[in-house]
Amino acid sequence: MVLGTKEICRRVIRNQHKLRHYIQQQIRLCSTTSLRTQEAQKQEDDEQPGFTTIRPDFSTVAPKPIEHDPDIGRLFKASELSVRLASPTQLQPKPDVDDLAFGKYFTDHMMKAFYHKSLGGWQKPEITPLESLVLHPAAKVLHYAVELFEGMKAYRGVDGRIRIFRPEMNMHRMNVSAKRSGLPTFDGVEFTKCLSRLVSIDQEWVPHTEAASLYLRPTLIGIDPTLGVASSDSALLYTILCPVGEYFKPGSSGAVSLLADPRYTRAWPGGVGDRKMGSNYAPTIHVQKEAASKGLQQVLWLYGEDHQLTEVGTMNIFMFYINDNGEKELITPPLNGLILPGITRDSILSLARQWGRFKVNEASFTMPQVCQLIKEERLLELFGTGTACVVSPIERIHYLGEDILIPTMEQSKPVFDEVKKALTDIQYGKVDHPWAMIID
Ligand SMILES: *Cc1c(COP(=O)(O)O)cnc(C)c1O
Repeated sequence: MVLGTKEICRRVIRNQHKLRHYIQQQIRLCSTTSLRTQEAQKQEDDEQPGFTTIRPDFSTVAPKPIEHDPDIGRLFKASELSVRLASPTQLQPKPDVDDLAFGKYFTDHMMKAFYHKSLGGWQKPEITPLESLVLHPAAKVLHYAVELFEGMKAYRGVDGRIRIFRPEMNMHRMNVSAKRSGLPTFDGVEFTKCLSRLVSIDQEWVPHTEAASLYLRPTLIGIDPTLGVASSDSALLYTILCPVGEYFKPGSSGAVSLLADPRYTRAWPGGVGDRKMGSNYAPTIHVQKEAASKGLQQVLWLYGEDHQLTEVGTMNIFMFYINDNGEKELITPPLNGLILPGITRDSILSLARQWGRFKVNEASFTMPQVCQLIKEERLLELFGTGTACVVSPIERIHYLGEDILIPTMEQSKPVFDEVKKALTDIQYGKVDHPWAMIID
């Protein structure tokens, strides 16, 4: 196709913000290309035999489609998405990969969709420059914490393509939380398409390294300007994005120490500990501070008279140990209402069951059992799992005034490392897997 000068000029002007992106990113690319070739080399060097056993036809149980309330009204579609790009002067410089404190930097754009029952339901979704929200001071979210969120990531693969991980799981979990909060549900497939578009527009914010990724924070809030404790007839679904670095400082072992204090409870039967609702997290901050004041990094949440282990901070917990029959077994508490149904948790269970090299079990376990297993040298590993850190090994628990040492870091070929590698290999596109969805 031959273009006239006028058309070329038009296109340059129309795409000038992309050009600016492009030039800025070339500088960044130069410093990361060498890193990528190194990685590719390393990958060839250490072919992981355990990993090639994943079958391409591997499938897990897809979440059941959500049932919308009969009076939900119209649902939004990705095809209605409008885009208002940031002007070149609004574009933010990208931070250094070494300086990526969690949730500190945000990309240039965000996505929004309003719901107004009085207007017939969901309105058309839009992508806009990142901007502050204007809310009525009576908005329900500000009084009764009518809010829920998700946490997912976009990864730049070793082939340069961007992937998100099992987004249908996040969509399902978000819709279930919306129902529990009296907020409107939405079509997860359409929302995922909108998110993909948003990530694609801000694609140069997806770090060019395996040491970092782009965190997606879909959020749903009730914005009815009325003080009644009632379901909200207006809501805002929005998504912001932040580049995030490695959860742990390079060089550190990454192992964490925990405060386990049975005086505190995170979740209880019949409650909403199994939903990602903002109201679950504010009450944990004080306990987290108490842990920090004792030099401990996270809180181990216990439940019940028998001190069951439920979660670590905002992570699910796994134990690898030798069971009463002398077999190695990986165990995590069951989804009994006290446990956030982590997508990392589900993925690790699926992978480990598929490997079939050790027993995999969903069952509760208690602090007295942990202490006994340690005494008998049958406890091998304890670790937390979640999107933010993937896997976080545990080396010490402060419990009832005593320090309990966990031998997680003393294993020669630990399971936590193996599952971490298996998951990140999928996320960064080192292997093809149906869990990874490519964003174009
Ligand atoms: C988000 C979260 C997790 C981990 O869920 P993933 O889907 O694996 O990221 C675990 N526990 C709590 C309390 C959480 O909020």
